[in-house]
Amino acid sequence: MTHVFAIPLRTRFRGITVREGVLLRGDAGWGEFSPFLEYDDATSRPWLACAREAADVGWPEPVRDAVPVNVTVPATDPERAHAIVTAGGCSTAKVKVAERGQTLADDVARVEAVRDALGPEGLVRVDANGAWDVDEAVRAITALDRAAGGLEYAEQPVAAVENLAVVRRRVDVPVAADESIRRAEDPYRVRDLEAADIAVLKVQPLGGVRACLRIAEDIGLPVVVSSAVESSVGIAAGVALAAALPELRHACGLATVQLLTDDVVAEPLLPVDGLLRVARPEVDPRALDRLAAAHDRVAHWRRRVEAVGQDRPS
Ligand SMILES: [Mg+2]
Repeated sequence: MTHVFAIPLRTRFRGITVREGVLLRGDAGWGEFSPFLEYDDATSRPWLACAREAADVGWPEPVRDAVPVNVTVPATDPERAHAIVTAGGCSTAKVKVAERGQTLADDVARVEAVRDALGPEGLVRVDANGAWDVDEAVRAITALDRAAGGLEYAEQPVAAVENLAVVRRRVDVPVAADESIRRAEDPYRVRDLEAADIAVLKVQPLGGVRACLRIAEDIGLPVVVSSAVESSVGIAAGVALAAALPELRHACGLATVQLLTDDVVAEPLLPVDGLLRVARPEVDPRALDRLAAAHDRVAHWRRRVEAVGQDRPS
């Protein structure tokens, strides 16, 4: 059984305003297949493997019953940043920096506001989404580390993995690789170049929970599990990975259901006191009706599942 959903986003993300995807129902439960629209069949293959694992096989046993998560602060003004952190109830905040049209002073002011809202015990990480060049990154990370009274880490300060390795050698702040890890082979390249201290892993692009557990073991780096802005069905797979990792040192980026205006389950995976419960929420049939995609989109997604399912590694 498959079901195509379309959920409006609260704010634009990757140029889209509606998150679409397919829910697959198997013996083990529901799985989510929601590769981004521009992804070709080969790129989408691990995303389908992740959905099939969830639907047909299920996940390894968890070793914890809750997963710490971060609140995400967009590239907004300091007052709003402060309010978001206070409302978020998390002790770790991820602050977006290096936004086009803004300055380092804007980032410094935002990070200072976030530190103020978190208090001295909280952890502040910044995410530049690869927007700096090497020299900018070194200067900015140094300034933001000072503004934060110590950063937990800087995520993807520069775009190229080779440059990530250079930045990592020039700053004292730990560096995390996110965009540098998109395909299953990427984490090994990050490891071999010693380009990062922390690996951000996402279950859909990397082929599922078991695939990510293998990667985590192979690369020997601390892992931060992050989402691809899925519904709670997709988020549950990320939570299953975070719950099954032998060691989890950092809060995860899985508190993203609130970026969607609605959800396919009755009890969405929203954090309470900075923790997500380890659970597979039940799909709500009324929500499936409410969020059913238009006929042409259903046809598009059915074709896509079919094509990706037939696509084989060459
Ligand atoms: Mg990131």
